[in-house]
Amino acid sequence: MKKTKSTAAFKKAKTFFPGGVNSPVRAFGSVDGDPLFIAKGKGSKIQDIDGNKFIDYCCSWGPLILGHAPSAVVKAVNKASANGLSFGAPTVQENELAELIIKNNKYIEKIRFVSSGTEAVMSAIRLARGYTEKDKIIKFEGCYHGHADHLLVKAGSGLATFGTSSSAGVPEAFANETIVLPLNDTKAIEKAFSTFYNQIACIIIEPIPANNGLLLQGKEYLQYLRDITKKHNALLIFDEVISGFRVGFEGAAGYYGIKPDIITYGKIIGGGMPVGAYGSSAKIMSKIAPDGNVYQAGTLSGNPVAMSAGKAQLSQCLKKGFYKSLEQKTKILCDGVNQFATREKMPFKMISIGSIFWLRFSKNEIKSANDIDPKSMNSFRKLYTCLLENGVYMGPSGYEVGFVSAAHSDDDIKKTIKVLKDGLKKALK
Ligand SMILES: *Cc1c(COP(=O)(O)O)cnc(C)c1O
Repeated sequence: MKKTKSTAAFKKAKTFFPGGVNSPVRAFGSVDGDPLFIAKGKGSKIQDIDGNKFIDYCCSWGPLILGHAPSAVVKAVNKASANGLSFGAPTVQENELAELIIKNNKYIEKIRFVSSGTEAVMSAIRLARGYTEKDKIIKFEGCYHGHADHLLVKAGSGLATFGTSSSAGVPEAFANETIVLPLNDTKAIEKAFSTFYNQIACIIIEPIPANNGLLLQGKEYLQYLRDITKKHNALLIFDEVISGFRVGFEGAAGYYGIKPDIITYGKIIGGGMPVGAYGSSAKIMSKIAPDGNVYQAGTLSGNPVAMSAGKAQLSQCLKKGFYKSLEQKTKILCDGVNQFATREKMPFKMISIGSIFWLRFSKNEIKSANDIDPKSMNSFRKLYTCLLENGVYMGPSGYEVGFVSAAHSDDDIKKTIKVLKDGLKKALK
């Protein structure tokens, strides 16, 4: 595989950006070689600046549910941008995207658009604190919620009480307001609610945890979170930045039939443009400025070009059979590889929900972050090189999930199964 142009571009990028990138996981720190610089994408394929082509399952980390440069979205962006890129005043494009979402999602009554998932979650937490007039929050080890200070927190040592910051620059005083608990452990939650009686504003969870492997939780567990938050007058926040519009138009809330108090969105909602959002009941949302006293604002929030892209993409998602077909393709991909892995007695399984999949290098079910063996990432590293060399691109870390888009063809899936089988043979030797 020719890589001279990407290698040169990365060398240059390192003189401009920390680690040569504008977001850390792009740096290929967990796999071999330098990152590839992507020149263009169309449908299920991307092409790097050396001319190598790949079937892409990273899909910009999830936003591209229709694949790359879908004509409906590109057209909408062209049309909107010809009329001006931003006004900082209301536009009807904001109404249109909001109407499309709220009409087709019974879990939210009002929404606020922001420009990233991080911003959506940060604002949702502030809203929960403002609404409940409590400070502490519960998050889970293995869930990612963007890089706001109080969420860059990992479990402290000792008796899982206070969190400790997982990034320099986050004051311990902030981290102390975040309680970090293992997933799938109801006892830990009960204990936190009794230790911090009447101090907990909210529980935030990725209802489909997909940022540290795919740590699928049981519905009973999510229902338990719903019940205990209600009991203690705390809010339940579903961070659906990945799962929203991915496992169905109503996301994980609709998938499990559980109504959280606040839902955050990102990724798919913007059709590839920078959009995030949080939504809730009209009552809770009335706390947000200018109606209420929880402040939150954005110069480029509800940007008309981004709103148009989101509307064009989400309109496609609403077509009959859209999610069913994505799920079927994903199932064919996973079944094809899993039959082989079982026959070969490999410690490997592709697990999936909707069109999200994860390459799990273990025979056992994994429901919490601590159950992932870090050593299994060596196998991913070996596999990853084989994938690239054979024209399959995925997120460059074994902790990341992959995404099947509407643009992936039966042929793409067939080819990918073969490449994965061959790669696994080499990686697990
Ligand atoms: C990606 C992600 C975020 C952060 O979104 P950005 O747009 O990267 O700021 C937050 N929560 C979840 C669940 C995510 O997957």
